[in-house]
Amino acid sequence: PEVVNVTNLTKILGVRLEMLVRTMHRLGMENATHDHLLNSDEASLIAMELDLNPIVDSEAAIDLYPRILPADMSSFPLRPPVVTIMGHVDHGKTTLLDTLRKTAVAAGEAGGITQHIGAFSVDLPSGKRITFLDTPGHAAFSAMRSRGANVTDIVVLVVAADDGVMPQTIEAIKHAQAANVPIVVAINKCDKHDADPRKAKEGLLQHGIQLEEFGGETPAVEVSGITGLGLPELEETVVTLAEVLELRADKGGAAEGVVIESQVEKGRGTMATVLVKQGTLTVGSYIVAGTTWCKIRSMTDDKGRPVKEAGPGAPVKVIGWKEMPNAGDEILQAEDEALAKTVVENRITKQQRETQLRDLEVINDKRRKDK
Ligand code: GDP
Ligand code: MG
Repeated sequence: PEVVNVTNLTKILGVRLEMLVRTMHRLGMENATHDHLLNSDEASLIAMELDLNPIVDSEAAIDLYPRILPADMSSFPLRPPVVTIMGHVDHGKTTLLDTLRKTAVAAGEAGGITQHIGAFSVDLPSGKRITFLDTPGHAAFSAMRSRGANVTDIVVLVVAADDGVMPQTIEAIKHAQAANVPIVVAINKCDKHDADPRKAKEGLLQHGIQLEEFGGETPAVEVSGITGLGLPELEETVVTLAEVLELRADKGGAAEGVVIESQVEKGRGTMATVLVKQGTLTVGSYIVAGTTWCKIRSMTDDKGRPVKEAGPGAPVKVIGWKEMPNAGDEILQAEDEALAKTVVENRITKQQRETQLRDLEVINDKRRKDK
């Protein structure tokens, strides 16, 4: 009979070692050390005791994982950088995004309007592209990060030239540094008569931002979100930094991405904006996000145009979800509907088991204290 050790069985079943050991004890199996070998009958018995399918076919272990990327990505094509705008309240984040979005449309089709889908791409005259996340502020940034979604490649730190460094400027710097994401500074509101870019820059220096013009590595651009002054320069600065970062992705293989935002729209159902990270999303394919899945019925880009496929760096609105996924959820493509369903079922089972385990631990803790 096949054998599996206790540690590997925890991985196959997706349970923690303590829970497995407890279950084994309940079944009268006393030898529950991590390297103890179990035969397939014993393993099946343990699985059934945990309300799982007998693991002979290891169905319960089926899940999807992102591909393992090679250390040397140089053979893959460059992808657009993904940018998040951060900074103190009222320093002009929303205005800047609006102006950037408008220029994105102007450069596209005449009369077009951008759809708010949580992210948008700007095509530069140089042919380069930047993807901006449409949710400014560090709250959104850290919410995504706490879910394990490191989508931001570059932070544009907005500092109003009439106000200088403020508490949330410092917080934004800390967030970017903690995430190891490089910063491009946008000294904003430079159209104002009381603008003092010099003072703003000195404030940044005092808070550990080594600006290029003072011998450091952080670029700063003087801009106005209202007049559009300096925005082409800001975009080129972002693109130059992206080239240094050598952001590359594999357009082939199963699609991988992250949910940027999701909502239910009247008459259209549940939709989610997905930012593709690897591979290519295509209409008709199956994707899994958290504990829900989707057969992609249709996709639209950030200009509201229907698209059949979306590659790395492209934000698209995806329709066809069974249930609404959460912002920050990882997207992974499944070969077919059966696999998508199995993965979601297994993830739900895993979640339920984790809840049970937590409840059990609370009860046990209480018992121990009561003694
Ligand atoms: P947010 O809180 O960072 O999103 O800031 P907003 O974009 O809402 O801007 C706050 C205020 O500053 C608004 O009244 C804007 O009109 C104004 N503002 C933003 N950018 C500029 C700019 O470049 N120049 C000037 N003069 N005002 C600006
Ligand atoms: Mg705002």
